Formats: sequence, C-alpha cells, structure tokens
Amino acid sequence: MVEIRAYMAEEFGEAPSQTDRRVRDMRRHFHLPAVQVGKYYYYKLMGRAEAEKGGVRKSISSRLRAEVLQSQRCAQCGRTPSGHHVVLVVDHKVPWSWGGTDDIGNLQPLCEECNSGKRDFYATYDRYADQIREASGHPEPHGRIGELLKSFSGEWVPSSLIEVVASLGQYQNDWQRRLRELRFLDWKIISKRKKDPDTGRINVWYRVEVWKPWPEGSIRAEVTRRGPSNKSSQRWEDESAEALPFTLPAEHPLTPGGGREGVPIKRRPSLPDGQDEALF
Ligand SMILES: [Zn+2]
Repeated sequence: MVEIRAYMAEEFGEAPSQTDRRVRDMRRHFHLPAVQVGKYYYYKLMGRAEAEKGGVRKSISSRLRAEVLQSQRCAQCGRTPSGHHVVLVVDHKVPWSWGGTDDIGNLQPLCEECNSGKRDFYATYDRYADQIREASGHPEPHGRIGELLKSFSGEWVPSSLIEVVASLGQYQNDWQRRLRELRFLDWKIISKRKKDPDTGRINVWYRVEVWKPWPEGSIRAEVTRRGPSNKSSQRWEDESAEALPFTLPAEHPLTPGGGREGVPIKRRPSLPDGQDEALF
C-alpha cells in the first residue's frame, strides 16, 4: 500500500487520499481486500467483484466444505447434528456480498436456524453494503471502523452499524474504545444522539471530520506507541486541566478570605445549543 501511494505521489503528484479513492473505485469491479503480511499491508487482487460475475459465484469445493464442517457443531449455538438433529451449513463469517472471501478463515459451521437468524440481522444493513465492503477487507478493527467512517464521506454513521463492521470475522467487545483510540492517530471524530431507523432505538451516531492515512505497520502497535503515555496525549490532558480549574483563585470574592471584586471565574466554555458533542 505504502509503495503504491509513494509511486502515485511521485509520478502523478497525487495525495494519498486520491490514491485511496482510486482503490475504492477499483473495488466496484475487483475483489481487492487489504491483507496484513507480517508488519505490512498489501492489496490482494482476489478476482472480479461479484457484480462483474453477474452475481454467479462458484460454490466452495466439497473438500473445503468437509473441512469446515468437521467439528460437527454449530459455531454459534453449539448444537450438533447427532445430539440435536440440526442441519449444519457452511457460513461466510463476513458475507460474500460484503467483501468476504471463500478462505477457510472466513468460513464456519452454523446450524440452519442460526444461519437464517444471522442473515436476517445482517440484511438490516445490506443497504450499506458498498460502504461495508470498503471497510470489511481491513484486517484490524481500528482499520474497519476508520474505513467505514471514511466511506460515509463525513455523513453520520449509526453506532449499531459500526459495531457490526468492527466485529466482522470476530466480535469486538470494546469497539467503542477502538474508535476513541483513533484520536491517538490524530483523527477527529464527533458524536451525537439520534434515533436509529434500523433499530428504532436512540443511538449514538459518529462522523469523521479529520482522518489520517494508516501507519505502515500494525495500527494497534501505533496506537500503543502514541497512546496515553506519550507527549501528545500529555499535552491533551494538560489542556483540559487548564480549561477546567477545580479551585477558585485565591483572590476571588467567592474564595474564603479572598476579596478582590470583578475577577471572572475561568470556566470551560460551553457549547452552543444543538452543536455536536465533540468526542476528542
Ligand atoms: Zn446454531
């Protein structure tokens, strides 16, 4: 990825964001996930996109099918064909239409009931399939969350969708923490509360205002490196401490023994009504 960006910048003077947009355009026609090999990310050309194949895909081989089903146990409810008379099917953890592959790591045994429940749940989010596809190829939860927010081009994204995309492949208990950690990479993300049309519940929505290119290696490692113990977060904490004094100045009239009039209390400026609540 880094080499492609560097080449495009050198040869054509393109910003990394322009190159990233080209990759997104290519994904309309090609299945092109980002994969991590050792410390680095690569784009891997897997073939034509589903739409290009006219929606017809070849089914997985019977050998692969047997390998996936060998545990003879539903990966979700744990029921078995012999003990509970369920029928097991091969499920794509990340659905094919959302950019999932036929790699064994993306396949699992599910009973028919769990499979249909999962399908119904994911169908709620199918109208975001284009955006999900852009995010689903990223191997790290930080990356999936960030790519999803970017794919909405500054529009609000419901947290329920972020949870689904962060958890593609493996459930992420602390996806909200992963989202907040993007601030260590100088991202700016804001949030607000509003009704989620998918669930009917009041939900938190997020919107990216500033995003940065991903680090060359693992995002998690970079977050740890630039996280709470480093200088930039120290500065952030110092600023908040300055903006919100917990003790009144000695000379303030409200301070016992203090007496000078007209010294304003320094307080954190409050946001005007209706303004978005800033996360970072
Ligand atoms: Zn099941």
